[in-house]
Amino acid sequence: MDIHEYQAKDILGRFGVPVPKGGLAYSPEQAAYRARELGGHAWVVKAQVHAGGRGAAGGVRLCRSVEEVQTYAASLFGRQLATKQTDAAGKGVYRLWVEPACDIARELYLGFVLDRKSERIMIVASAHGGMEIEDLAETDPMSLRRMTIDPATGLVEFQARELAFGLGLTGTQITQMVTILKACYRAYRDLDAMMVEINPLVITGAGDLLALDAKMSFDTNALFRRPEIAELRDRSQEDPRESTAGDHGLAYVGLTGDIGCIINGAGLAMATMDMIKLAGGEPANFLDIGGGASPERVVRAFRTVLADRAVSVILVNIFAGINRCDWVAEGVVKAYREVGMTLPVVVRLAGTNVEEGKAILQGSGLPLITADTLAEAAAKAVAARPNLAA
Ligand code: GDP
Ligand code: MN
Repeated sequence: MDIHEYQAKDILGRFGVPVPKGGLAYSPEQAAYRARELGGHAWVVKAQVHAGGRGAAGGVRLCRSVEEVQTYAASLFGRQLATKQTDAAGKGVYRLWVEPACDIARELYLGFVLDRKSERIMIVASAHGGMEIEDLAETDPMSLRRMTIDPATGLVEFQARELAFGLGLTGTQITQMVTILKACYRAYRDLDAMMVEINPLVITGAGDLLALDAKMSFDTNALFRRPEIAELRDRSQEDPRESTAGDHGLAYVGLTGDIGCIINGAGLAMATMDMIKLAGGEPANFLDIGGGASPERVVRAFRTVLADRAVSVILVNIFAGINRCDWVAEGVVKAYREVGMTLPVVVRLAGTNVEEGKAILQGSGLPLITADTLAEAAAKAVAARPNLAA
């Protein structure tokens, strides 16, 4: 789960990372009020959306008067901001963050991620941060410094100092950097984060380190024990198809093709995506019904998949272990009748109660296309698509 910049700054600030003071605004008037309240002569107004790349997309601006803050804020509210990190539709802007402008001498990059290979938290840092960091990662990957943290010792002093030296910091900046690194590490570990990113981490004109941007995302599987984090969820930033599916205990992933997939288990989903592509098709999405799915859950799965207008055929692929093929078959038949299905539906069932399941499908008298193997199901789904040229 992602959170907004201002929320990440609040959290990291409480762990000891130096962050600018700022104010949140829900309207242009409030943005102007915040600027006056903060004082000074220049402010940075920043769209709060769950995506980076806002600067390059016009979602961050330096304003030199309160009037400019208000006018710029008015142009942002309610807009869809599309950045390099969003899809073409972008994300809705409903909150702005206003900060006094800061005088920047250098921009650094600092990230904490989970490195699956070493099974450790990894620090990624660069002396050249800012908006071009992604290009740098491609053109000059060696310029990124990486360091993994041993969970038994945590981030130790000498490691943190080594990293600070490596970034070319000097004097009190080194102590400041050590504090920042330790604070980020503790926030990451104590709050079940998946990612902490500060870009840019700047050296101000006065020579101090300051986090001008912050991003955090959290492990959704741990949210139950982090109510203070769960509370920060902002549904306006999510794909409504995915949020609605989540509300019903279904895991949905939106893709760009036209074959809607109802599957149990992420591994089977991956295999099914591969088989569809091998057969010459493209998945529109996949929906994981999980284990022990009731017929009602299968009906909800159909409704969710059908909500995607790009879907032209549905492929149901169930390998039942904990699931029961007869329940899934009942759900398929029920869904077909309830939603008034007009699209071809291909069903492949295997595993627990498969004979009962097949009998239910057959006995329904519905024009379901059945298959025994995954390869056959994928091929039939691709073949069943309406001829788009016609
Ligand atoms: P992002 O593009 O979504 O990552 O948004 P950022 O918060 O990183 O802002 C983009 C860029 O705006 C930063 O890389 C900075 O160069 C610039 N910026 C942000 N805050 C300030 C500020 O207070 N003063 C100045 N001069 N530039 C800023
Ligand atoms: Mn940034």
